[in-house]
Amino acid sequence: MSYTADSNRYDSMQYRRCGKSGLKLPAISLGLWHNFGDIDDFGKCRTIIQTAFDNGITHFDLANNYGPPPGGAEVTFGKIFKQDLKPYRDEMIVSSKAGYGMWPGPYGEWGSKKYLVSSLDQSLKRMGLDYVDIFYHHRPDPETPLEETMGALDLIVRQGKALYIGISNYSASETQKAIEVLNSLGTPLLIHQAKYSMLVRWVEEGLLEVLDKNGVGCIAFSSLAQGILTNKYLNGIPADSRAASARGNGALESNVLTQEIIQKVRRLNELAQQRGQDMAQMALAWILKDQRMTSLIIGASKAEQVIDSLQSLKNYQFTNDELNTIESILK
Ligand code: NDP
Repeated sequence: MSYTADSNRYDSMQYRRCGKSGLKLPAISLGLWHNFGDIDDFGKCRTIIQTAFDNGITHFDLANNYGPPPGGAEVTFGKIFKQDLKPYRDEMIVSSKAGYGMWPGPYGEWGSKKYLVSSLDQSLKRMGLDYVDIFYHHRPDPETPLEETMGALDLIVRQGKALYIGISNYSASETQKAIEVLNSLGTPLLIHQAKYSMLVRWVEEGLLEVLDKNGVGCIAFSSLAQGILTNKYLNGIPADSRAASARGNGALESNVLTQEIIQKVRRLNELAQQRGQDMAQMALAWILKDQRMTSLIIGASKAEQVIDSLQSLKNYQFTNDELNTIESILK
């Protein structure tokens, strides 16, 4: 069946400016880390992406190593792009990244110019794109000089292979240094991609301040803690869940689901119900309450999860009492 995007797709999504740049991102973006590999049902992948785009999710986040196998998610995305989304390319923000192990030998990971330029060339081929909108360095490299890594990102932009650049998993002080090097090169840092959820709070300890001060955006990942901050694990581990899937590559493992965590989620879930939300919606709303957050990237194994998560946009205001209750549950 051929695809035509929903004509109402821009009616309810909210778009936030990314730092001081000219680019706006949807408050909710879709990531393809899991659920878009070779082992996943292609029809389901297609429906998830169509559902996202039909609801104003213009931003799709990938990386060289998403799969399985590494590269698999970019291949899946490339097929769906060719089949369905090509006419809409100018309405889309596609990102990819390089930093983790991708191919054997000394040039297949970290942050050398050799690796970053080659990896992006491979990603573009897999996705069938001429350029990505955002290209990220996926993790800091303790050995390569920062000037080389940032110089490679600047080069990639000048070559027209990426429009903007980002970094991910850099600490606050590493980010400040990267910003300074990039400013000196004339290609400002657009965005930082960081793990941020009610359960993982490190960005509050300096990173958000550095980004805000320098006019750089922030996009959160794993804001549902890979599904922990939803209702799904309150009564055991469902067979079709990520925790049961043994997917590897950093996917949630069942041993993380301790009684202590589940007990906290149970109490958070009661508060969510009082707010008229489900657990997932409240967990996402809690990120969106901070206007310094440009966007958050959801993962989804079903199109219904995308629809469910989008409802968080209806209420991301919290009273002080609610925030205090959340803190007392989390501590
Ligand atoms: P989430 O924390 O959003 O977890 C996604 C999982 O949560 C889904 O697969 C699904 O689990 C469950 N879920 C999602 N929505 C709902 C819902 N409404 N109700 C119930 N369950 C729900 O994000 P991810 O950890 O998947 O990360 C999202 C994206 O962030 C990635 O795809 C990637 O783009 C980016 N990322 C970046 C990293 C980096 O280093 N820069 C690292 C990790 C992620 P189930 O499969 O069990 O149904």
